[in-house]
Amino acid sequence: MGRIYNFSAGPAVLPEEVLQQAAADMMDYHGCGMSVMEMSHRSKMFQDIIDEAEKDLRTLMNIPDNYKVLFLQGGASLQFAMIPLNLMKNKKADYIVTGQWAKKAYQEAKKYGDVVAVASSADKTFSYIPDCSDLPIREDADYVYICENNTIYGTKFHTLPNTKGKDLISDVSSCFLSEPVDVTKYGMIYGGVQKNIGPAGLVIAIIREDLIPESVDESVPTMMQYKIHVENGSMYNTPNCWAIYICGLVFKWLLKNGGLEAMQKKNIEKAKVLYDFLDQSKLFKGTVEPASRSLMNVPFVTGNEELDAKFVKEAKAAGFENLKGHRSVGGMRASIYNAMPKAGVEALVEFMKKFEEENA
Ligand SMILES: *Cc1c(COP(=O)(O)O)cnc(C)c1O
Repeated sequence: MGRIYNFSAGPAVLPEEVLQQAAADMMDYHGCGMSVMEMSHRSKMFQDIIDEAEKDLRTLMNIPDNYKVLFLQGGASLQFAMIPLNLMKNKKADYIVTGQWAKKAYQEAKKYGDVVAVASSADKTFSYIPDCSDLPIREDADYVYICENNTIYGTKFHTLPNTKGKDLISDVSSCFLSEPVDVTKYGMIYGGVQKNIGPAGLVIAIIREDLIPESVDESVPTMMQYKIHVENGSMYNTPNCWAIYICGLVFKWLLKNGGLEAMQKKNIEKAKVLYDFLDQSKLFKGTVEPASRSLMNVPFVTGNEELDAKFVKEAKAAGFENLKGHRSVGGMRASIYNAMPKAGVEALVEFMKKFEEENA
């Protein structure tokens, strides 16, 4: 069987060229007689891999020198605790709750301090991004936290919140490298790479260096201190070598294909194919307010659960995988990350048209 169109929210589709390169390198990476999975993380060979990955990421995102780049483990979910444990100096933080991931981050932070949800879109099942131009941000809050692209609900902050001078911390797991970004607007940007970049098990955190505390409460586990990872070049312990290597290949693929401006242009075109179809369809409809729509995750429904299930089943048989919506919301969701070709979205829309005719 050949490759299918994979609309998974994560782990998700990777560029075929990257998979081919990894396959070609598998038995003998650059003449060293072993794969990247087998080499010491203390070897020069691997040091070059991680250094080059960081250099290419800095180029892609135009990361200023006063920001550290860390390659961490524990998933985005471990950051829900690491962020308050390291960055909540006054023990106060303000969270904007726009979905399940933001809510989990908020609930975790509450374990460690005085944490307030200053805005939420829970009233309409997280189908929109609230107006964040004048929120009651507290004078002594250490930071304002957002989940920039809500993977489950398919919403995206198209304007960053007015943080009233506080540092913005953003979970970009599902929109990482999908468009150009002004890193200087953030105190910290982080994301699990398994959505839009690479294999599961790696988190990239980009943190302004003055935010990283010299010392934290001594009860904070060593592995959860940013300072330790900075001092050890992300190799305090054995890092996820394989995922770092694959991400490095993806960074090269992005650079070769025009960088983040080109990616944004492609992503807008791709999403438009699907949204335009949904907007005129008599059967399918998008679940998100148009102004808050994500370019990466597109949830939609027929309004009939049985028909939704039939669609998912028939789509799968036709080679369109992982279209079932998140278990918490039902319906369908097409995740159309950087590595999803436009042809995949067009083929999906053709299939949806046919399904609509057959089920009118
Ligand atoms: C998937 C996801 C997470 C959780 O990532 P893990 O690596 O599984 O911990 C957090 N935030 C967002 C926005 C996500 O999409």
